[in-house]
Amino acid sequence: MHAVERSTVTVDLGAIRRNAETLRRAAGGAELWAVVKADGYGHGALEVSRAALAGGASALAVATLAEALPLRAAFPEARLLVMGPVEDVAAAREARLELVAVGDEVPEDVPVHLKLDTGMGRWGLAELPAPTRDVVGVLSHLASAESDPDFTMAQIERFRGATAPLAGRLTRHLANSAGTLRYPEAHLDAVRCGIALYGISPFGRDPAADGLEPALRWESYLALVKRLQPGESTGYGRRYVAERETWIGIVPVGYADGFRRDLTGTQVVVEGKPTPVVGTVSMDAIAVELGRRLPTGTAVTLVGEGVTIEDHARVAGTIGYEIATGIVTAPGRARRVVRDG
Ligand SMILES: *Cc1c(COP(=O)(O)O)cnc(C)c1O
Repeated sequence: MHAVERSTVTVDLGAIRRNAETLRRAAGGAELWAVVKADGYGHGALEVSRAALAGGASALAVATLAEALPLRAAFPEARLLVMGPVEDVAAAREARLELVAVGDEVPEDVPVHLKLDTGMGRWGLAELPAPTRDVVGVLSHLASAESDPDFTMAQIERFRGATAPLAGRLTRHLANSAGTLRYPEAHLDAVRCGIALYGISPFGRDPAADGLEPALRWESYLALVKRLQPGESTGYGRRYVAERETWIGIVPVGYADGFRRDLTGTQVVVEGKPTPVVGTVSMDAIAVELGRRLPTGTAVTLVGEGVTIEDHARVAGTIGYEIATGIVTAPGRARRVVRDG
């Protein structure tokens, strides 16, 4: 039978650790820096950081100061980089963070990395200024390493060229997950891996093809099983109407839990069988077409047992990143537990 929770997210720290080891091997001699922004891509930043460090990551990277502070408290010795802009430089200094200069203003009296814009067209400087004494690294970010080899090679060459005089003196880092897995030329001194650390493919395909292991399972249960007669429907807008007598299961997970409204038609797993999600996704519930009568309380796997985050992303017309970070673990929604497998 089901627990009190409407759904449970289980994060396997062993998978995170093994993915870190895989990425470290893929990166050749470069250091692996674990990107744990957005609460570890929805997996839980503290636990994921612990596993990534155990798997050989030598630094943690986040997007904001607020994300960095709890990590500093939990990991007093870890190297901790904030990749996005930070207003409160004094707080960053106090927490021994490393910052990135994303524009003309270079933070002072704190270890800083200069960001060169080589084609992302977002944060970063058009030209590298002469490094001040606070500068410890130079970086750039790839815009389409998962899809555009020509543009990616041009970015890599621009970065390597612009930073060649600094080689050996400053840490040069460029590659994200896709860059790490596909472009040895981008490895340089350190790679910054997020999505692949979680066992999600940056290429939107089967993560096993790159030796990655999904770390997240998402499970719920059949809260109600009902028989629809021909012509009866389930859900808002009557988007699913039974053509013949059909058994429908109602699962207490909806778009407010992060099971997005555009996931109609995706598959979940019920008793080992791929089972389609039918009708409109509600705020708090989805309907699945069982094709047979099953007891209430039967387990439903939303992610896992062969159903990947990439599968859902494809149906929703988005990327795995958005599905993973969209899962809501607030009170009353998915409960998150970790295990060390
Ligand atoms: C998020 C982020 C990464 C990690 O990208 P993945 O594709 O998840 O590996 C690396 N570098 C920067 C600057 C980022 O913002």
